[in-house]
Amino acid sequence: MTFWDAGDSHDLADGLRSSFAETFGRDAEVVGRAPGRVNLIGEHTDYNAGLVLPLALPHATYAAAARRQDGRLRLRSRQAEEGWEGTLDEAASAPGWAGYAAGVLWALARDTGSGTGLEVPGMDVLVDSTVPIGAGLSSSAAIECAVGVAACALLGLDLDDPLRERLVAAAMAAEGEVVGAPTGGMDQTIAMHGLAGAAVLIDFDAHTHEPVDLDLDALGLTVLVTDTQVSHALNDGGYASRRADCEEAASLLGLASLREATQAQAESLEDERLRRRARHVVTEIARVTETVAALRDSDRPALGRLLLASHVSMRDDFEISCAELDAVVETAVEAGAMGSRMTGGGFGGSAVSLVPTERVEAVVRAVDARFVAEGFRAPRHLLGVPSAGAGLA
Ligand code: ADP
Ligand code: MG
Repeated sequence: MTFWDAGDSHDLADGLRSSFAETFGRDAEVVGRAPGRVNLIGEHTDYNAGLVLPLALPHATYAAAARRQDGRLRLRSRQAEEGWEGTLDEAASAPGWAGYAAGVLWALARDTGSGTGLEVPGMDVLVDSTVPIGAGLSSSAAIECAVGVAACALLGLDLDDPLRERLVAAAMAAEGEVVGAPTGGMDQTIAMHGLAGAAVLIDFDAHTHEPVDLDLDALGLTVLVTDTQVSHALNDGGYASRRADCEEAASLLGLASLREATQAQAESLEDERLRRRARHVVTEIARVTETVAALRDSDRPALGRLLLASHVSMRDDFEISCAELDAVVETAVEAGAMGSRMTGGGFGGSAVSLVPTERVEAVVRAVDARFVAEGFRAPRHLLGVPSAGAGLA
């Protein structure tokens, strides 16, 4: 049984240093690292001031960097054919993938009002990643945070909590303002604050994050992530339209956000579509709280029920699933998973399943066979081992 490999972080960093020397003809000074993530539960709740429960993956993006004296930025990625070169001012309009990497440097240098901008120097940057790209596992926040961490290290800054928060904000600004893909903040927060052996409960109303122990060995469970290889990028408008629906529902209820809504209020909405959207958000936030309790009680059946209820809610009320994701969920449960759900923004991407460890092989085989039978592109599987957040590699 083979899984999509996270690689060894020391080996990856060493390999990247060699490539950097070949590419730029000089040595890298630092290597930043930031992980992808899988969200256990709490989907489309971050921008509704709600709760989410992601964990950082062992799969990560690495950014090797060295200062330049001429103030210019030169960016390359082993996952992209085209590089990008420009100034910090031009970074605000860097196209394509470079928008994520250059955008975070631009945002760090910007005066935020609450603090003056950092003196971001010119630099050469080379990126490499083991996070599947565009699979709903947050390769975007991983590249933003890896580049941001590398830049801060070049400035000699200590990666303390305030700097981690600043990097979260800069990464969100890169994605929202430079790339033009507004996100709710879950991806950047878990990339900076992930912890080995734990999921992280993030509250977007209280602006807090706290670890929730995820002792998979004690639970006898494996977090199995299945990338359907269906690209969600094709459905960019879907995310924005769900966000708009949620804002409209909250405003019709006279609330600042759906976090404040009760289920009765959600059910009182006259418009059928908005009612279903609001119902998903309200019940999903409750399911995050229940999942935290089920983890603390080691209640495997409850965990399974909650994941499945979350999937049904996203499939029927929020309408962000697709045939491939539904097939993973259905097949995984038939083959012995406790529960399974689509994870990430939706319209493709990945599913997350909680599988009794002795059943993992059976589940993977069953899902693969189902995809063959349906004529779907072969999925890839990876192991969601809860891992550390961003840092130096
Ligand atoms: P996800 O975050 O779920 O992987 P997104 O659509 O949010 O999907 O982000 C994917 C985009 O991020 C890619 O299309 C690419 O532009 C950029 N990206 C992510 N990782 C890399 C990388 N290692 N090299 C170059 N670009 C990357
Ligand atoms: Mg993303």
